[in-house]
Amino acid sequence: MNSLALILALFAPAHPALKPSIQYTLRVDSADLSGWSVEIRLRTASDTIRLAMAAHPEYDDRYRRYVTGFTAEPSGAVVTRVDSAVWQVVAPRGIVVVRYRIALPSAEPGPRASWRPFLTPTGGLFGGPHAFMYVMGAEDGSALVTLDLPTGWEIATGLTPTRDPHTFVAPNAEVLVDSPILAGHLRQWRFVEGGATHRVVYWPLPNATPFDTARFVSGIQSMVHQAVALFGRTPYREYTFQFEDGAYSGGLEHRNSVTLGARSEELARDPNAVIQETAHEFVHTWNLMAIRPVEYHNIDYRTQPPVSSLWFSEGLTMFYADLLLRRAGIPLRDSTRVAHLERLITSYLANPAYARFSAESISRVAYNVQPGELGDYSASTHLQGELIGTTLDLTIRGATQGQRSMDDVMRLLFDRSSPPDALSRRDRGYVGEGIDGRIVEQAVESVCGCDVTPFFDAHVRHAAVIDFDRYLGLIGLKTRVSWGPAVSDGVPDRDLRMYGFEPAAPDSGLRLVVTNPASIWGRAGLHSRDRLVSIDGTPVATWADFRARMQRLRLGDTVRVQVRRPSGPFAATVIVAGFERPTVRIEQLPNATLAQRRLAEAATF
Ligand SMILES: [Zn+2]
Repeated sequence: MNSLALILALFAPAHPALKPSIQYTLRVDSADLSGWSVEIRLRTASDTIRLAMAAHPEYDDRYRRYVTGFTAEPSGAVVTRVDSAVWQVVAPRGIVVVRYRIALPSAEPGPRASWRPFLTPTGGLFGGPHAFMYVMGAEDGSALVTLDLPTGWEIATGLTPTRDPHTFVAPNAEVLVDSPILAGHLRQWRFVEGGATHRVVYWPLPNATPFDTARFVSGIQSMVHQAVALFGRTPYREYTFQFEDGAYSGGLEHRNSVTLGARSEELARDPNAVIQETAHEFVHTWNLMAIRPVEYHNIDYRTQPPVSSLWFSEGLTMFYADLLLRRAGIPLRDSTRVAHLERLITSYLANPAYARFSAESISRVAYNVQPGELGDYSASTHLQGELIGTTLDLTIRGATQGQRSMDDVMRLLFDRSSPPDALSRRDRGYVGEGIDGRIVEQAVESVCGCDVTPFFDAHVRHAAVIDFDRYLGLIGLKTRVSWGPAVSDGVPDRDLRMYGFEPAAPDSGLRLVVTNPASIWGRAGLHSRDRLVSIDGTPVATWADFRARMQRLRLGDTVRVQVRRPSGPFAATVIVAGFERPTVRIEQLPNATLAQRRLAEAATF
């Protein structure tokens, strides 16, 4: 499919910065909110052009499925869909106008993911990979984006503004699809940190609950202040927080913007209700968007190949989201850093996956794979990476008597991947050098002046359980781990360490995921990706039905699970039982020195 090198030779404009060669117009009609139409106007120097819908490296929503009415002018132009995500247009050289519509899929039940597009009479989210096709071969060219929206809608996007409030510039195709557009009846606030303007935009539902917006914005500003202090400077000129009422509290990071769910009723209870997610996505601006994994390439319509350093990109982002909020003095769910670490180590020790799979192998299956990729194990690159980050931070503090920390590693990697003049170079398509495990390892060693190769061999490139006491001991702390029956509110927990998912492929049924081979389900012979046929003789075809049946189980119940697998049918008889779980407490070593206690304090313990 790539045998033919396609080059779109665009006429070189006289003033490249002023006169982009590709013009997009996205139109939302208030009389029909079932989707939006896109027009792409370009001047070609070849009679064959190809346009593609980009795949997001983490969450490929495959909106190519919702493209309708693709046409091209001049009349006589021949349109062929040469791949599910690629359209080819053969037309005489000159002005070619492509038009299509995105027909939005019907909304799923429950709150929306904040990065999924939507349209309502009072506003919506669109743009990005869900709207704009890019012209293959012209990825580095700039584009003009004009938005034709219902009257009164304000616009919040990371695209570069122009004098016309409805027209923006994308310096290249990657920025075009990395800049979602939130528009409608918006509330907006601004503040300056690190010399850059930060815009906080909130899109409320018509029946929004009022909340303390001053505290909401000041919490964000104090977090931003700490992030800029950590990295030394911003990788953007202007940043836009795009908060959406009605979406659940998760987000998606971009180079100079972020979409985040922030339900007004939750903000009414606590103006900092979504500050942890906000901090996480904001740290990604540096650690993932600027400090990029080597596997991240330019815009592509094909699925992102596996990434081996997500333990760093996600894990250190978790680490700093927590740490920056503590530095900012914002109260968190885990009241202290000790309580936070106790919770993380408990989850880590409860899960046998971390003794079996390296950080790199868990990273490689974090996105773009179906559940069950690790067999009867389930693991979080976020958790594993945050704990690796914590132990590396303690290692550096211990080796340098508190003179240096992981902060210095982050600054070093940021300077390496995004030199101070990168902002202006990025406008011309500059992408910094990527990172991998070896580069992170070298950065840690150069900051700490110590040998961390054995640690990276053991925990990053291979699998071994981290000996936390070895690292906590550097700051005068140790763990106390005890195992006992899992109990919630005084009642023994049932072993429900199995879930189901419905693959997107038609007729693939409901698949099981056993998350621990030592669970009652694993020991009964069930395996991840077994296709569920029935429970106690009753067919079960959906995850909702399966979950409801699991929730009805009581300790001592006997349940018969029938599945189908490539080798044939299989039935397991399972007696519902409890299971053992660790409890982790972190305490001070009796012989902790004053120097160690000072290190602990500097690390916010
Ligand atoms: Zn993340």
